[in-house]
Amino acid sequence: MIDCLSCTVPTDSPEGVCGFCLDYAEEHGPRLAIGKEGWLTAEGDADRVTVFRSPLVKVSGRMFSPVRDHVEACGLRLVYTETDEDPEWIYGQRIREIYA
Ligand SMILES: [Zn+2]
Repeated sequence: MIDCLSCTVPTDSPEGVCGFCLDYAEEHGPRLAIGKEGWLTAEGDADRVTVFRSPLVKVSGRMFSPVRDHVEACGLRLVYTETDEDPEWIYGQRIREIYA
């Protein structure tokens, strides 16, 4: 058994992805999940992605590239953005963005 490539469920499927994630991908397209609390978190699928990022994480930068690739591959556009003061986040600000 190994851990599923896109979640933490143990699996022995040859694809390395558990049954749940395989079914999910079939129904919703590829999932995106990034969890670098304080820097960058992103969660979503082929229809919609919610991003939280520090202002230090640039949308043109390397850390953001998995989000950029997913958004481009799925043909999503930035539909909402807001910035909140948040001392837990690097630089004291947390930007919320929704791509759909
Ligand atoms: Zn899984």
